[in-house]
Amino acid sequence: MRTRLYEHPIFLEHITPAGHPERPDRLRSLNIALEHPNFHGLDRREAPQASEDALLLAHPEEHLRHVMRSIPEEEGVINQLEADTYASVKSLQAALTGVGGAIAAVDDVFSGAAENVFVASRPPGHHAEKATAMGFCFFNNAAIAARHAQRKYGAERIAIVDWDVHHGNGTQDIFWDDPSVLFCSTHQMPLYPGTGAKDETGTRNNIVNAPLSPNSGSDHFREAIKSRVLPRLADFRPDLIIISAGFDAHHRDPLAQINLVGEDFDWATGRILEAADRSANNRVVSLLEGGYDLEGLAESAGLHILRMMKG
Ligand SMILES: [Zn+2]
Repeated sequence: MRTRLYEHPIFLEHITPAGHPERPDRLRSLNIALEHPNFHGLDRREAPQASEDALLLAHPEEHLRHVMRSIPEEEGVINQLEADTYASVKSLQAALTGVGGAIAAVDDVFSGAAENVFVASRPPGHHAEKATAMGFCFFNNAAIAARHAQRKYGAERIAIVDWDVHHGNGTQDIFWDDPSVLFCSTHQMPLYPGTGAKDETGTRNNIVNAPLSPNSGSDHFREAIKSRVLPRLADFRPDLIIISAGFDAHHRDPLAQINLVGEDFDWATGRILEAADRSANNRVVSLLEGGYDLEGLAESAGLHILRMMKG
């Protein structure tokens, strides 16, 4: 089958405090959207749980120990890892299962089990730096997936395209000195976490930041993809494209002021699929990052997945 989706009930058991935007209802709203007959051809599977060793592909062991020490032992207790990042008793298991889904997705696109794969997991990952959990993120799913593709399949060039409305500081941190990974990000600036200026290019010129001003809309986003991201993808000729698929640039989202509509994510997905067709044998792994308006998330992620299914 062309498109696979990884999900797991454990993703609903990572509990954040009342009123926190990164909440289980996000995945419930996506699940309702996926009940539409359009998605009957989607190959839906339970994500496997990754081993703790898999985390060491992108993080030092002390980071794993720090996260493990932060996990509460009792049901109903929520611990604060840092400013806005919280853990409940099942959070480590949820995070490891998100990593496991990302790794399985890489396996699927290299084995030919699927052309492209979407991982509907939480917590998200792109703010997690080498040794820092932050911005709702514990471990960097996209970075671990990229490292897995390199180690297991000998992938020489991997591109990560991050269209979450927040800059993927964690992914940038992990690949800052690594020309085997091209990291391209569109994001609102100024906005959390404050990084992502155009002149942040990495020591080997493998980082491409395309910041968008608050209140930008579809035209600015599409222009950034066309003029900054697509030419670099064409030059780089990746063996695999990983999407850090956040949907918080949707106009309904409460955490940012970019005014995209669902069709923009459909369009951007189409452009990434074209790039993957040219150099990556169509291999695309898409990992859910942000998206905090339930309706905006369900619409945008639904159109993104539908485009992956149709090509
Ligand atoms: Zn975000």
